[in-house]
Order: sequence, then C-alpha cells, then structure tokens
Amino acid sequence: MRMANINGRLALKAPEGYIDVAIASEERFGPAPQTALAAWDEFTAWADGFLEAGAVPAAARIETDANAVWGPPVPRPQQIFAIGLNYRDHVAEGGLQVPTEPAVFTKFPSSLTGHECAVTLPDGQVDWEAELVVVISRPCHLVGREEAWSYVAGLTVGQDLSERQLQLTGPMPQFSLGKSYPGFSPVGPELVSVDEFADPGDLELFCMLEGGEVLQKSRTSSMVFDVPELIARLSAVCPLQPGDLIFTGTPAGVGWARTPQQFLAPGDVLVTGIEGIGTLRTPISAA
Ligand code: ZN
Repeated sequence: MRMANINGRLALKAPEGYIDVAIASEERFGPAPQTALAAWDEFTAWADGFLEAGAVPAAARIETDANAVWGPPVPRPQQIFAIGLNYRDHVAEGGLQVPTEPAVFTKFPSSLTGHECAVTLPDGQVDWEAELVVVISRPCHLVGREEAWSYVAGLTVGQDLSERQLQLTGPMPQFSLGKSYPGFSPVGPELVSVDEFADPGDLELFCMLEGGEVLQKSRTSSMVFDVPELIARLSAVCPLQPGDLIFTGTPAGVGWARTPQQFLAPGDVLVTGIEGIGTLRTPISAA
C-alpha cells in the first residue's frame, strides 16, 4: 500500500486517487499521519480490507491539486538515523576507506520536510545526497538480519541535504548539525509498504537538477551495509520505535566531490527518485 501526508492528514492511495483515512475509517485511524505506524498491524489489516472492498465514499476523496501540501509521511519520528559512506563509489570519491562498521549520525527531526516543499539555503555550501529512507513499523531491539525486514513498514525517498562547511570543518566534524538546517531532510511523497516490491533490496535511485544532468544514479543493492544489516546493527544498541527513520546513505556524484565542486543555488529544483516509490521534488530558494 502507498500512504502520504497530505495537508497534514493521513492519506491512503486507492485506484481512484488519495483518500482521507480518518474519514474512510470513521476516525479509527488518522487524521495524524503517524497514527498508522502507532498501530501498524491493525492499520494494514483495515487498509487491505478497505482497498479490497473498493467502495470509496465521495467525502473521503482528497484533491491533490497545486494547493495540496505534501508533508513528510512520518512527521515526528522519535529517532532519525543516517548512515555515512554506505556506497563504495561514494567512499572512493571521498578518498576514504570502506568502513567495517556503519558510520552512524543523526538528522534532527526539526529538519524534516515533504515533497514540493521549498528549502531555504543557509550560508555555506549546500550539497545533495539522494537516499533510500527506511521506516520502522514495530518496536525492535536486538533483532537479527534474517528477521529485520519484518520490522520495516515501508520505504520512501529522501535527501540528506548537507552544508559541507559546517559538516566537515573543525576538530570533530559536525555531521548531525551540518545536515539538520530546516528542510534539510525532505522525504516523500509516499511511504510504500515492503510488500509492494519484488525485491526491496535492489531499487534504482537517482537525483538530478530539473532540466539538467543526472547527478547521482545507482542501485540500493550496492550498499556496503544493506537494510537488514543496518537494522541489526542499529537495534543492537538502540531500541527502534515505530516511525523511526533510517537514511541509508548516498551513492557517488555528490557536489563536494566534483571537479570543480558544485553546490545548490537559488532557483534550482532538486529531483530525487527511487524505482517503485516515486519522485521527490525539492525547490531551492535564497535566504
Ligand atoms: Zn547521507
């Protein structure tokens, strides 16, 4: 199933278009987008039944015209994990060693935003990082890689926007802060459940500037630590909660590693896509 946060309300995609879950479920779920994740098994059972019945009340239909506001599918995760150096070609372009343990940092939740939401550039050098984002469905602690996918609600598209000067300067680089300006974690437009994918571990991802060249293109099967391994290693330390996000790392092609270096500028529109999920559009504006 495919879910979204439209105008701050939980939406489910039906063949007819998006439906408002609170109206369609008579307030059993929604309107807050994260209520689906708070009771994932009950929600998916209801949604499967609703979609199978195929009767969408007119009052539950959502117009997705230009006025629709696409929020992040999970607006208030308790934890956001992000992984550095998780594609070999990106490790190589940075002149670094392939890690033997995942390089973990956070993106603070105040940096979340959605599809079609403009991001204001702070001072510095703001770079793109196209990433698959994993959404956790059930509490999990100390889970093995064999069972890890069963704790995933679904996948979405994300950008790990990064201000490189703050990120990389100083005796202790500031990954978490340099990647957490307002809007630096756009995700969406939809959260797509794992059962929608023939192989959720092998999806093409890309990003480009609208009207310009493709900047990054790879497959998620090229990760150094795949999704099950990341869940096993993160949950070995931190109990994971429903709605937690994992930004799983970016492939080669970031602006910082280019010759000459290239960064985002006002007027750019960053387009990020993943096979089977969709395309996240991020307009960039001046301060
Ligand atoms: Zn990243």
